Amino acid sequence: MVAYEYRLKGKGRRMCRLCGTSRGVIRSHNLYICRRCFREVAPNINFKKYG
Ligand SMILES: [Zn+2]
Repeated sequence: MVAYEYRLKGKGRRMCRLCGTSRGVIRSHNLYICRRCFREVAPNINFKKYG
């Protein structure tokens, strides 16, 4: 597990920087994390619920 280490493999590859998945990644707000991880870190970054 590579926590908070955003690995960029080429252009256009948007991956969750927490779990590495490329599905449902939120690119807005400069988050770049998937919705699943977002729900976990949202309280930490003082963010409201998504969706
Ligand atoms: Zn994730």
